[in-house]
Amino acid sequence: MRSRFLHFADAGSEFEDAEFVILGVPFDATSSFRSGSRLAPNAIREASYNFETYIKEFDVDLESVPIFDAGNMEEYGTVDEMVEDVTREVKKILEKGAIPVVLGGEHSVSPGVVKAYKDMGKDIGVMVIDAHLDFRDDYLGVRNSHACATRRMAEIVGVENVAVIGVRSMCKEEREDAKRMGLLYFTDEDLQERKFPEIVSEALAHLGKERIYLTIDADGLDPSIAPGVGNPEPFGLTGWHLRTLLKMLPGSMCGFDFVEVCPPVDNGNTSALAAKVIRQLMAGLHSNRDQG
Ligand code: MN
Ligand code: MN
Repeated sequence: MRSRFLHFADAGSEFEDAEFVILGVPFDATSSFRSGSRLAPNAIREASYNFETYIKEFDVDLESVPIFDAGNMEEYGTVDEMVEDVTREVKKILEKGAIPVVLGGEHSVSPGVVKAYKDMGKDIGVMVIDAHLDFRDDYLGVRNSHACATRRMAEIVGVENVAVIGVRSMCKEEREDAKRMGLLYFTDEDLQERKFPEIVSEALAHLGKERIYLTIDADGLDPSIAPGVGNPEPFGLTGWHLRTLLKMLPGSMCGFDFVEVCPPVDNGNTSALAAKVIRQLMAGLHSNRDQG
């Protein structure tokens, strides 16, 4: 049961033929500061029409890539119901052998996606881009809050199979838990002091998996390039960091999401960035598949 919507640019395929399936999850009920990410899936879709169908980095024209846009999931009751629904929907995509591309919504969506891989017996590593550690056991009593996303994903796949890049905000307890449990994360100081390709290589080596799931919380990027987020944090990833990451990742990826874009406080650039990144990731993964 899905409402009418504008599909993502170049998503002209049917579900049966799709290599990529785009799924919007317009959920933002646990947002802790500025809500509005429920409007992001459609804002990102609109922004996707800004870009050329041809992706020069990978010599791929997205018009020739089978992409199906499944639209948005329905409104839900609680966050727990939403997470369960996301797992169920993403399992259908994985059962078909397609790559899920999930548009948040807030970060609470991502553990639901990761759970689907787990339920399907797929051994994955999770790479997280985020300003926040998201490692609280609960936030105001809500375990599936977006402030707990990385903690939940670490529970699903094992904390040793998670790496976070861009962290510059945490509470003391999260820091202690991350240390005690052995969560690998790279901070804004790492971004400043180290060569970024080394950070990405170290994260990938730590994960040590064929299949990498990438979850991009838009606030991991610097507010100068991604102003439209619910919880803006200065000193984030630049566009160049992101480009390096995109070049280094495709090939070992099994799916991704882009979450926490907040259109009511955006000037349009954050939705555009999300659409661009999604397009580049699909092109990169497709070109890698072509080459076997
Ligand atoms: Mn987050
Ligand atoms: Mn965040």
